[in-house]
Amino acid sequence: MPDQQSREVEVVWNQCLDIIRESVSPQAYKTWFEPTRPLSLDDSTINIQVPNRFFYEWIDEKYYGVVRKTLMQVLGEEAKLVYHSLEEEMLETPETRSVRLPLPDNGRSGPIPSPRPAAGAMMMPIPSDYSGVELNPRFTFENFVMGECNQLAHAAAKAVADNPGRTRFNPMVIYGGTGLGKTHLAQAIGHEIIRRDRGERIIYTTSERFSLDFVDSIQNHKSNEFNNFYRSAAVLIVDDIQFFANKEATQDNFFHTFNALNQAGKQIILTSDVPPKQLQKVNERLISRFQWGLTTDLQPPDLETRIAILQKMSADEDYHLPSDVIEYIARNITRSVRELEGCLISLLAESSLRGIPLSIDLTRDVIGDIATVQEKSVTPEQIQTEVCELLEIPLSLLTGKSRKQEIVFARQIAMYMIRNLTSASLKSIGNFFGGRDHTTVMHSVNTIENLVKRDDDRVRRTLNTLYQSLGVGYRQ
Ligand code: ADP
Ligand code: MG
Repeated sequence: MPDQQSREVEVVWNQCLDIIRESVSPQAYKTWFEPTRPLSLDDSTINIQVPNRFFYEWIDEKYYGVVRKTLMQVLGEEAKLVYHSLEEEMLETPETRSVRLPLPDNGRSGPIPSPRPAAGAMMMPIPSDYSGVELNPRFTFENFVMGECNQLAHAAAKAVADNPGRTRFNPMVIYGGTGLGKTHLAQAIGHEIIRRDRGERIIYTTSERFSLDFVDSIQNHKSNEFNNFYRSAAVLIVDDIQFFANKEATQDNFFHTFNALNQAGKQIILTSDVPPKQLQKVNERLISRFQWGLTTDLQPPDLETRIAILQKMSADEDYHLPSDVIEYIARNITRSVRELEGCLISLLAESSLRGIPLSIDLTRDVIGDIATVQEKSVTPEQIQTEVCELLEIPLSLLTGKSRKQEIVFARQIAMYMIRNLTSASLKSIGNFFGGRDHTTVMHSVNTIENLVKRDDDRVRRTLNTLYQSLGVGYRQ
């Protein structure tokens, strides 16, 4: 009965959405999963409608693991997901109408494989129940944008990739907040070593996967196989070691794995969300080993890096982001690279859904909410102080009568920023500069505005530095 069927698919998809909602950020859920509609369910194949091609490509790329896990949980091992694009359906081209997006990665057809024994990231698969975790093909050095925030970690990662096990950076621990590129950088080392094809076995895994494998090996009396697998690595990368917390038996095993590899001169690379010595509920003797080599951190991306990352994404994907859009996003989304990506994607989705080009207005609309949360308020006095400090002039000259070119420039910059970053009126801004007339203020603001529009190098750099030192978002 069609009715009953449609209810069934509804229930099943809602069940899936409930699980997905728990596993992704609210923003991601809202952007990518809320617009999906269940169509039908045949055995364990669920048909889902998405607004357009962009959606399923994005969901497939970013949420493949989550969706796969969810479907297996709800529909079992044989689960299949078929996406149908609303846009293409409306074009009435039956042959492209239903897009089959079978879940297994790469193979892209057939039932969802059980997590094991999928080929892992090793270059030389060995017959084993253990396989590590696949590398994300995007996480290469080539795609990693360098900046002040990640310079040291990047350089060390390159050195390790050049000479695994033969630098002082062993183990190499990369730590930093979420979304700052730890997994990317750690995997980039793996990719690079694989690319050079030295015949070494690379194993990339997460502490959770290591722990699951370990427990599994005990239950199935396969401890030897487990140990042989992990201890056969020339390079072992373990992501998110903070999740070793409280898992004492796993830690114990990892301690021995670590020693075995270390003594054999093999390379170990670890990532963590805190520096090793702050790891909670992790055995001291492990922590002390983690500190034998190099511990390096990733900082939140600075403005220049944020711009460079957005430019790279835009170039790679052929999005053609206008420079004012890039700048706007870069100024407003400051916490992590992941957030930066998320924001860009929401924007692209919105532009594609509404069928309108990517403009600064749309950008403001889409990220307005996120941005205001991050925005800090500044006062005219703070702006004056920062300008004086950066341009090395005393406040008395800034607010005084001097017509010297350098002073006039500083004054104009300060007025422009106060106008843009505070709610001060033209008249009151005039008062901050020794009681100047509001038309003078307006002229100053216009002068800088025109230079910004013309992309004047000096103005851009000065403003960038000031925005950054004030820690504020960008408003027009
Ligand atoms: P973490 O593991 O620290 O939580 P990830 O390595 O998963 O963060 O990075 C989050 C996202 O940001 C990924 O898509 C990654 O490709 C991207 N990313 C992080 N740092 C950079 C960088 N320096 N250049 C380009 N992309 C980056
Ligand atoms: Mg990570």
